[in-house]
Amino acid sequence: SAFSAIGEEREIDRNEYTPEIEPQPTWCPGCGDFGVLKALKGALPEVGRTPEETLLVTGIGCSGKLNSYLDSYGFHTIHGRSLPVARAAKLANPGVEVVAAGGDGDGYGIGGNHFMHTARENHDMTYVVFNNEIFGLTKGQTSPTSPKGHKSKTQPHGSAKSPIRPLSLSLTSGASFVARTAAVNPNQAQRILKEAMEHDGFAHIDFLTQCPTWNKDAKQYVPYTDINESDDYDFDPTNRADAQEPMRETEDKLYEGEVLTGVYYRDDERPSYQQEKQQIGEMPDEPLAERYFDDDYEWE
Ligand code: SF4
Repeated sequence: SAFSAIGEEREIDRNEYTPEIEPQPTWCPGCGDFGVLKALKGALPEVGRTPEETLLVTGIGCSGKLNSYLDSYGFHTIHGRSLPVARAAKLANPGVEVVAAGGDGDGYGIGGNHFMHTARENHDMTYVVFNNEIFGLTKGQTSPTSPKGHKSKTQPHGSAKSPIRPLSLSLTSGASFVARTAAVNPNQAQRILKEAMEHDGFAHIDFLTQCPTWNKDAKQYVPYTDINESDDYDFDPTNRADAQEPMRETEDKLYEGEVLTGVYYRDDERPSYQQEKQQIGEMPDEPLAERYFDDDYEWE
């Protein structure tokens, strides 16, 4: 984020993010959600954000438990609404590193409208979507990313619905950073999370997180290819038109058993919504939140 941090610069240990009350996650053994937590704990110290300077906003789902396992400020909100809460928090206190998180059902289904408009407006935050191709917490129902033909309790004869294309949707909606990574690839995940948090604007990461409990047929997302490093892919991620083809290929191949990951698009020139607000004089230099706690503040 372009906005300066709240506290003094200092060395940060990843263990500072481990809570004393619930240090051991209760996710199922083998769940991909562990990979997100690990990558986040690795990336936050790298971007120089202390737990006090970090806000994690989550929706409903197994992914929402992330708040309990990351010792930062947190807001576990209602289904599909992590983005509007995160937007408000960033506007009120731009010095905070805001990370919003939720599952594919929460983010692309229930909160799909918020996703589209937060991308369009380029709000300065990182949005991590745990994509396991089902609803996990509620026991395996078909989600917006479930493959066509996927059998579940809600679609016992197989889903007749085509899955959403999250990367393409993000790009066409206006996100200024679009990436996919996988929980089985912790080094890449940490690197992409760091890049996303350092980016000024809406950074969307579609994070493949295997659910061995309810999506037993699903891929474990290995092996995977990093399109930024593979010789088979030659494109410029700063060029919107260039990014479209590898995105489409990535979305199709996921359902054919091939996993492609990497940073597909980034626009580092476009100002974030918060920067635009500041330029037109609608956002003060000091955090708005401080005004609410200042009894002597004279409102205009
Ligand atoms: Fe993870 Fe699936 Fe278990 Fe939820 S139900 S904790 S997504 S493995």
